[in-house]
Amino acid sequence: MRVNAYAAPAAGQPLAPTTIERREVGANDVLIDIEYAGICHSDIHTVNGDWGPQPFPVVPGHEIVGTVTEVGADVSRHRVGDRVGVGCMVGSCGECDSCRAGDEQYCRQGMIGTYAATDRDGTTTQGGYSTHVVVDADYVLSVPETLDPAAATPLLCAGITTYSPLKHWQAGPGKKVAVVGLGGLGHMAVKIAHAMGAEVTVLSQSLKKQEDGLRLGADHYFATSDPDTFEALADSFDLIINTVSAKIDVSAYLGLLAVNGAMVNVGAPAEPLSLNVFSLLSNRRTFAGSMIGGIAETQEMLDFCAEHGIVSEVEVIRADQVNEAYERVLASDVRYRFVIDSSTLG
Ligand code: NAP
Ligand code: ZN
Repeated sequence: MRVNAYAAPAAGQPLAPTTIERREVGANDVLIDIEYAGICHSDIHTVNGDWGPQPFPVVPGHEIVGTVTEVGADVSRHRVGDRVGVGCMVGSCGECDSCRAGDEQYCRQGMIGTYAATDRDGTTTQGGYSTHVVVDADYVLSVPETLDPAAATPLLCAGITTYSPLKHWQAGPGKKVAVVGLGGLGHMAVKIAHAMGAEVTVLSQSLKKQEDGLRLGADHYFATSDPDTFEALADSFDLIINTVSAKIDVSAYLGLLAVNGAMVNVGAPAEPLSLNVFSLLSNRRTFAGSMIGGIAETQEMLDFCAEHGIVSEVEVIRADQVNEAYERVLASDVRYRFVIDSSTLG
């Protein structure tokens, strides 16, 4: 099946309309008519070659929401007409310790990414900036009907990537959580940590988005461009979620952690991060990382968001605005996630 899509032809090149082939619907597959696809900063890192060479042309997009239009003979968990979602992962071995534990993102054989990855049949996966996708039903999520589909789309990556570490490091009542960077991931971290009952602080480059941050659920908001911030907040947080897409001074942020506090990096900048180990020794601090979340946990997050009425703040765009949107994300001018309306792919 030949479908319309937007692809980056080569590293750093603007995205352009194209057509791609989607496989036949197999026995355990679901065909999804895509309604919306979110723009994650990871799409931009990939297209710009920040993370190394890629199998171009690349159709990005790992925040996908749409409707099931066909299911394979063996599929029972999704039906034609269901509203479903696909995140960053479309396959894993299913047998290793990680997969058995529901941490398919840490599959020992390597998870299969939604785009720019080698699929089971040897072809390269192509993502959600397209009209249709065929996905193994085990990696397809149910999107609760009460959530607006466009605004729910970013939950498939930004939502789960922040929910998973917030849950793992036990954000909740009595816990002070700081979120560094108020972009796509950051604004979801604020909403989710607030719903979990934590006391939430935003650490943004400036105070430009302060009103938004407080409205989204933050209790406090500080500008990291102000050196006083690092003095005022020293030794105060139990958990810091760093969502910044660029290199930051890790040691300065570690200094904000209380005894036994942890800073979890979900941002994935091109450059290595360095730190002064004394910022870890002091207060027995932890510096950790976290990658998306498992399939069952992603469903749990979607259900949590439905229960708490949480969606993303989105700006819906046409497909031909994608390059402009990339520029705005790079300039930290996104409030707070761009979502492509797939009907504009023709
Ligand atoms: P985004 O919307 O661009 O948000 C990043 C935010 O970081 C910006 O809004 C900005 O917030 C802040 N920032 C940007 N440049 C900065 C700089 N030079 N110094 C300090 N702060 C800066 O990006 P996103 O989609 O949320 O993704 C964030 C990062 O997470 C990316 O690196 C992405 O690849 C990564 N990611 C990782 C996973 C995972 O599984 N671990 C999943 C998805 C994405 P302020 O304006 O508030 O300062
Ligand atoms: Zn993403």
